[in-house]
Amino acid sequence: MATIIDGKAIAAKIRNELTAAVVGLKARGVIPGLAVVLVGEDPASKVYVSMKEKACTDVGIFSAEHKLSVETSEAELLALIAKLNADPKIHGILVQLPLPKQINTEKVLEAISPDKDVDGFHPYNVGRLMVGKPTFQPCTPYGVMVMLKEIGFDLAGKSVVVVGRSNIVGKPVAMMCLQQHATVTICHSRTKNLADVVRSADVVIAAVGVPEMIKGDWIKEGAVVIDVGVNRVGEKKLVGDVEFAAAAARASAITPVPGGVGPMTITMLLYNTVESAKRR
Ligand code: NDP
Repeated sequence: MATIIDGKAIAAKIRNELTAAVVGLKARGVIPGLAVVLVGEDPASKVYVSMKEKACTDVGIFSAEHKLSVETSEAELLALIAKLNADPKIHGILVQLPLPKQINTEKVLEAISPDKDVDGFHPYNVGRLMVGKPTFQPCTPYGVMVMLKEIGFDLAGKSVVVVGRSNIVGKPVAMMCLQQHATVTICHSRTKNLADVVRSADVVIAAVGVPEMIKGDWIKEGAVVIDVGVNRVGEKKLVGDVEFAAAAARASAITPVPGGVGPMTITMLLYNTVESAKRR
């Protein structure tokens, strides 16, 4: 039976370290500040934003909420971002996605100063990640890498199969694994013989958004399985992209859903905000 990689416990440990780092920064007169911008009333976004704000407060980060109406124009949002870029109390800017239709998301993300881009979505920071330069690493893939490090897994020479090629998870996590000297395969909706590709993997990273589509018998004996997927099934149940019980019977280590990658994402956002404050 696989070791369960406890994302909550790893996240709690990092948050304790961040709380201590924030105390140190405050002693030097620096209060790390995160601006959280929410446009509209999307219920899931509201939940994420309140979770991020609570997490900030818990570790001592100052969080400035900007809740804007669903009718906000692109120009108004860009003006707010310009203000936050210039505000010395703010070290990180997070614009909760998705944005309403009248606003061009790319334009907004590119308006955030790369120095305050704690989500790591600005093309400048994406480019730096690509060429292996220090940068803000996007939070979910960064969380995945921290989990692999925490279990002492050395990626060098290992075969990693990433299922999903989104800009926020699949592509950046593949790049991070490549930088750790893994041999990386990225799969997507047009990949042929997905089961066979997954069967070849020492590490499977699933970021698809289809409940339990990666079957337990696709997992090589002893492989490590990182399930990024979060899928609501029925009223209350959350499942990942991997058939958990069957995969756990073959894997050497596996992340659960919930309680795996999820808690790491917000933690790495806090981490990036504290790093940004330290750089100043
Ligand atoms: P996207 O929808 O942006 O990307 C999904 C990817 O999966 C695409 O590349 C798509 O391929 C691929 N895909 C879809 N169907 C198949 C299939 N049948 N076979 C192979 N590949 C397929 O999703 P995200 O990357 O944003 O998120 C992925 C999952 O991770 C979701 O469940 C999301 O909720 C979760 N998530 C969890 C986070 C956390 O904190 N735990 C944070 C972010 C996301 P193609 O490109 O060809 O369309």
